[in-house]
Amino acid sequence: MGKVTGFLEFERLEEGYEPVEKRVKNYKEFVIGLKPEEAKTQGARCMDCGTPFCNNGCPVNNIIPDFNELVFQGDWKNAIEVLHSTNNFPEFTGRICPAPCEAACTLNVADDAVGIKSIEHAIIDRAWQEGWVKPRPASHKTGKKVAVVGSGPAGMAAAQQLARAGHDVTLFEKNDRIGGLLRYGIPDFKMEKSHIDRRAEQLVAEGKPVDENRRNRVDERESAGQCGRQFLDRAVEQHVHQTGVDDAQRHQTGPGTRCLGHR
Ligand code: SF4
Repeated sequence: MGKVTGFLEFERLEEGYEPVEKRVKNYKEFVIGLKPEEAKTQGARCMDCGTPFCNNGCPVNNIIPDFNELVFQGDWKNAIEVLHSTNNFPEFTGRICPAPCEAACTLNVADDAVGIKSIEHAIIDRAWQEGWVKPRPASHKTGKKVAVVGSGPAGMAAAQQLARAGHDVTLFEKNDRIGGLLRYGIPDFKMEKSHIDRRAEQLVAEGKPVDENRRNRVDERESAGQCGRQFLDRAVEQHVHQTGVDDAQRHQTGPGTRCLGHR
């Protein structure tokens, strides 16, 4: 655990905000992350519960007690390894997740919950700063091709995992840039677009080079929609052929087709 008496010694510390005078002059993020020493004391508050409800409360099952402990110990490099083991993009969740882990935290029963989200934010920002976040191309190729339709956070994570498993992945997106709602639904003052662009570069680096084979890159161009449409049409044809059930209408109005923005 963090520190045996940590939850008795240290109060929960919230992340700070840029002063209003500064914030009104730009549209950038205004949350100020914890300093390393602050994150350490926040990690010390974790009780390493026998049943870590935080872990079950987290939609991606982050191994929260472990990274709390590692931050308390000052082992930031292993903290990001633990965090990345369940979460492809902690810089997104560390900024915009509503943190159900904190609502589930045992300390929340009689005190303030451990500041899990702010610790996560501190870990990933430091990892990028230190150059610990690097592309992880697959060590072998399976020869299988996979299309991922829609490049929101789920599509990006699926594409990344599949590419790391050795598949040739194409990530389709109807819009001119990848990111889905991350890009087009979240204002910069909550999360700047550079975080998505940085991950897009990582995705490309984990596949073949952009100029080598279009099918192996993160496709952000207008042809992506057309290719995606063809992919869906083929999938529907195959489905009808195999099952005899023509429910193409359902596919046309389903999320995949909407995502591609056709008809
Ligand atoms: S529930 Fe709270 S105190 Fe318990 S392990 Fe998780 S973060 Fe730590």
